[in-house]
Amino acid sequence: MLYGKMQVVEQEFKKQLCDLLQKKVAVERAVCEQVMGCFLATEEHVTVDELHGLLRARNIAVDRTVVKAALDLFSDVGFAQDFRLQGEAAHRYEHFHPQTHHDHFICIACRKISEFSDAGLEAAQSAAMARQGFKPLFHKLEVYGVCPRCLGQEKKRLPLTHVPEGSTARVAAIESGVRLKKRLTDLGFIAGEPLTVIKNVAFGPVVVEVRGARFAIGHGEAQKIFIHSEYTAEKR
Ligand SMILES: [Zn+2]
Ligand SMILES: [Zn+2]
Ligand SMILES: [Zn+2]
Repeated sequence: MLYGKMQVVEQEFKKQLCDLLQKKVAVERAVCEQVMGCFLATEEHVTVDELHGLLRARNIAVDRTVVKAALDLFSDVGFAQDFRLQGEAAHRYEHFHPQTHHDHFICIACRKISEFSDAGLEAAQSAAMARQGFKPLFHKLEVYGVCPRCLGQEKKRLPLTHVPEGSTARVAAIESGVRLKKRLTDLGFIAGEPLTVIKNVAFGPVVVEVRGARFAIGHGEAQKIFIHSEYTAEKR
């Protein structure tokens, strides 16, 4: 049976991966297999530290450098695929299945990474590339925004981090400690004051214009500035 044969090939491939990893780092065979098993068991898009955490949760003692070496190796040989989210320093790794392409949407509120595939969208992309005379090899589509669950928690106001670039909105409140609140108030972040979002890229700082001046607000601080969500309010 083809499936049985595939499994044998996979087992052989896994053995080869362990051989390669053992050439790169000092690691016991059993630990190598556990690292691979743990990676295969998760459907998440993990960083080195996250996979290291999953291994620790299973009481598997392994050095972080081994986890990193393993994920980089998996990625090099096409067992995993690595990518980096906008505004994040750490690489993320997921299983690689060349036959089943998917794209991602990423919630900037809870950081959940979801997968989607849309035949219509793929066909439109291919057609657009063909019109340009461009032959694509691969592509990645990442859509950053707010997931339905997080969106459900927003009522008449939302954090500044959730406002798309180019929008103009009004400050509702600042929910932070006294010092940050004073600093922001001094800059003009006062309830009712209009502001324009100039740049907002996922987990990076948010650049806003208030009273004709531009400020880059750190992502964490921007989460504490709440604005009236006119466009959200319109839908409800
Ligand atoms: Zn795609
Ligand atoms: Zn979310
Ligand atoms: Zn994925």
